[in-house]
Amino acid sequence: MKKSIEVFMQKVKARNGNEPEFLQAVQEVAETVIPFIATQDIYKGKDILLRMVEPERVIMFRIPWVNDQGEIRVNRGYRVQMNSAIGPYKGGLRFHPSVNVSVLKFLAFEQVFKNSLTTLPMGGAKGGSDFDPKRKSDNEIMRFCHSFMSELFRSIGPNTDIPAGDIGVGSREIGYLFGMYRKIKNEFTGVLTGKGLSWGGSLIRPEATGYGTVYFAQSMLATRNHTIKGKDVAISGSGNVAQYAAEKIIQLGGKVLTLSDSSGYIYDKNGIDQEKLEFVMELKNIKRGRINEYTKKYPSAEFVKGETPWNTPCDIALPCATQNELNGEDAIKLLTNGCICVCEGANMPSTPEAITEFHKAKILFAPGKASNAGGVATSGLEMTQNSLRYSWTREQVDKKLREIMNNIHTSCIAYGTDENGYVDYVKGANIAGFVKVADAMLAQGIV
Ligand code: NDP
Repeated sequence: MKKSIEVFMQKVKARNGNEPEFLQAVQEVAETVIPFIATQDIYKGKDILLRMVEPERVIMFRIPWVNDQGEIRVNRGYRVQMNSAIGPYKGGLRFHPSVNVSVLKFLAFEQVFKNSLTTLPMGGAKGGSDFDPKRKSDNEIMRFCHSFMSELFRSIGPNTDIPAGDIGVGSREIGYLFGMYRKIKNEFTGVLTGKGLSWGGSLIRPEATGYGTVYFAQSMLATRNHTIKGKDVAISGSGNVAQYAAEKIIQLGGKVLTLSDSSGYIYDKNGIDQEKLEFVMELKNIKRGRINEYTKKYPSAEFVKGETPWNTPCDIALPCATQNELNGEDAIKLLTNGCICVCEGANMPSTPEAITEFHKAKILFAPGKASNAGGVATSGLEMTQNSLRYSWTREQVDKKLREIMNNIHTSCIAYGTDENGYVDYVKGANIAGFVKVADAMLAQGIV
């Protein structure tokens, strides 16, 4: 089996040699899906995984815009449309200087499996730009978003490809992007999700990824008769996912000890309660400040510059910032300090070495493609509400979100439980996500 995986990866590397993040994501899937394919006659000789790693389309475009000083700036925009076998493309837009084809292909590939796991009819895509929104004025953000959409509009549509937010793209950016799409196309449709409530957005969409991650952690903990109540929790990031993961942990009686951004992390030994979290939300979402400002407001907390929070003793770790933010050494520190559950809010935050450590220690570990699927699932619910021209209540959406997260957990158990009873959620998520897409591709012929 090792040989088959090696041969497969050699083929993928030959074509994508300069794309380390993409190769990392493919390797993780290959290690679990290739042994499964070998046991299933219907997939034999169909090169189905090789077809799945090739994007259906990669679009790259120029984004010229003018800054507040009147100077012309040029960024690069992308949309990777990975797979539409089970529904129109769906996946976020990321604005961050680290964005390139490799990062977006990894995210789009993961998105295919994640969207399949939700059981909603959504294919996978991802897009964005190497534009850095930090220290840009509101007007600069608006001009950039308008220029971005004046090109992207050609490739998307409510039945073709429905982008959403991701790092650096929140409700403000979705508003500017939607405004330009509506103007150019002269139509009001659900072409983007994460919209404002008064113009087609869904209740619970802002909360969905963070809440969903915690719902998934709850399901995992229940398999070992644990609950969130009374648990110490380390969270990384302080953006959309981290904020609402923290909120749900607080609601369920857990103690949030840390939050972070790319400059370092804050540790509050007394716990970040709802009032402190609201300060963080205002700081990050409105004032667009840095996380170290938390310690000025709450001096009993400390700021650790340039570090990630993983040497904080905790029961549960929720990495909610970015890819590869938790490495093998961090994993060992977490395990030494007694961590029993790692549930990914971000996409691929744990390196392969970290995942190996978690699996060796047989703790509860959930990969983002399963545990953070609540965001895209609720985007799917936003699409449904847009099509119906109707809005569900907060309680209705939250109930559906819980059900979806619960179903994903059940699928992971079905495909990921080994002979000793340990649940390998990576294997479970990869195989469950693969089956639906692969079967749809086979049914549609060589397309
Ligand atoms: P935001 O832009 O709202 O927040 C991102 C957070 O991560 C910020 O605190 C940011 O700090 C930090 N961060 C970003 N890059 C780095 C880095 N290189 N090193 C350290 N910290 C970093 O993004 P989201 O919360 O939306 O997304 C976070 C993660 O969750 C991403 O992996 C995303 O793909 C994933 N995700 C998001 C979904 C959503 O619905 N929003 C859905 C599913 C997954 P700083 O401000 O300093 O950059």
